Amino acid sequence: MSSNIRIEKTCEYCSRTFIAKTTTTQYCSDDCAKRAYKARIREEKILKSKHSAYIKKVAPIQELQTKEFLTVREAAALISCSVRSMYYYIESGQIKAANPSSRMTRIRRSEIDRLFT
Ligand SMILES: [Zn+2]
Repeated sequence: MSSNIRIEKTCEYCSRTFIAKTTTTQYCSDDCAKRAYKARIREEKILKSKHSAYIKKVAPIQELQTKEFLTVREAAALISCSVRSMYYYIESGQIKAANPSSRMTRIRRSEIDRLFT
């Protein structure tokens, strides 16, 4: 059964005007519908990967905020500075650090907080 209604609409994919036979038609052709579907799926995938990239970036920092002792690399990541800068802060005495052994440096989490008080 075909309906008698004819509505002039604009395709949501290619922006051409077309005559729709139902009120819910969004696209001028099957091709446009398929392309719009593909574009939508692609968009969702991009969004998903962006989100997981964000989680990967933020989760480690949240973990660092709960640690009591940090390595130089972790301390640098926490305040977004380079490892080299962190060593400079330690050598200049701005940040106190402990050396349990010659190849091991640890910084107390509270030392980092103290910088901002
Ligand atoms: Zn179209």
